[in-house]
Amino acid sequence: MHSFSYVDGSLHCEDVDLEKIAAEFGTPAYVYSAGTIRGNYQRLDAALAPLDHLICYAVKANSNLAVLSLLARLGSGFDIVSGGELFRVLKAGGQAGRCTFAGVGKTREEIAYALREGVFSFNVESESELERINSVAGELRLRAPIAIRVNPDVDPKTHKFISTGKSQNKFGIGIDRAAAVYEKAASLPHLKIRGVQTHIGSQILDPGPFAEASQKLAALVAELHAKFGLEFFDFGGGIGIVYDQALRSGTGTWWEREENASRITPAAYAKAILPALRPLGLKILFEPGRFLVGNAGALLATVQYVKQTPAKTFTIVDAGMNDLIRPALYEGWHEIVPLRETPAAPVPMDLVGPVCESGDFFAQDRPLPPLAQGDRIAVLSSGAYGFVMSSNYNSRPLLPEILIDGKKIHLARKRQSLEDLIAGESPA
Ligand SMILES: *Cc1c(COP(=O)(O)O)cnc(C)c1O
Repeated sequence: MHSFSYVDGSLHCEDVDLEKIAAEFGTPAYVYSAGTIRGNYQRLDAALAPLDHLICYAVKANSNLAVLSLLARLGSGFDIVSGGELFRVLKAGGQAGRCTFAGVGKTREEIAYALREGVFSFNVESESELERINSVAGELRLRAPIAIRVNPDVDPKTHKFISTGKSQNKFGIGIDRAAAVYEKAASLPHLKIRGVQTHIGSQILDPGPFAEASQKLAALVAELHAKFGLEFFDFGGGIGIVYDQALRSGTGTWWEREENASRITPAAYAKAILPALRPLGLKILFEPGRFLVGNAGALLATVQYVKQTPAKTFTIVDAGMNDLIRPALYEGWHEIVPLRETPAAPVPMDLVGPVCESGDFFAQDRPLPPLAQGDRIAVLSSGAYGFVMSSNYNSRPLLPEILIDGKKIHLARKRQSLEDLIAGESPA
């Protein structure tokens, strides 16, 4: 679901012409639609209404303060994976008491920070982490609320790098070992067992694996609840989005077209998991990241050169893999459209960035409208795992991020300057 569409031949985000954004802020730049994020949150929240639930947005998908404050105002909690993410949530007006702290490598400093701030729960990934949290809580004379991440051994049928719920992944504790690890947690004096957590992977487009995970874990959760008195079951994130037909024409409004194109909708997701989760009578937490923000973002870029070789046409733009790494890292596919609509027939090309790596591409051998120097494009559905994964590789400054809400334009992050680029460094 998103708010990018052509109005009089010019691509808009909500009520704002993106050529205007490019002229004002320059390219490359990220733009986000506040209305899309709000709409996605509300649709998911409504579908989950039959459950006593809390949506904890997975901050790692897009951690800009403007995105976090928007979600905090909607009542969202947050799923964090580092002390840095907790700091951002607090700066954005979010509450520590609505945060779950995940991740396989929490340091003592991060644990102490989260304990002092009063996070809702630590989602624990190993027995040695249980011991460390117990020890830090003891030093601070606090009791740490915990949930253990249980790996249900379900194949989410997604890209191998973003699958997390199979037994060969580094995440969580196997379902067979879970009861024993809960016994151990109960024996540690500075821990308070609060829930059970799971997360099977990302960009999951089929409700089937979610249904399977809910069924596989429901019996275990009920058993642990009877024994230890749980407050919640955290079902993780992973709801997939449409990347490849975001602007495809059809009948109805753009969100109806999106719903028709989607293989998973909030309603289908809820239908798959409600039968197993509702009878538990527990609070159910969800940790969506990509679903809330993915389709809400676009990366704007300007064509610098068109290079013809005997084999191919290379269209070279000013954005690179350091700005959006999904194509290089996960073979991620993004729809690419010109900011000015054109009737010209598409021609096959490679759309690439300026970075000195062959992996620096956004599309390969893809038919796209003919593009010339100075033309602008949008790489759609780049609101999740876009800016947050960017780097200064090739000494390229980090991009600005702009949040659009109706007609309102908010510069949520300034473009890094060349001085910013070397801040903190000193020649020897
Ligand atoms: C990454 C992650 C999420 C969010 O995943 P999405 O696919 O963006 O919804 C949620 N929970 C945990 C534990 C994660 O690691």
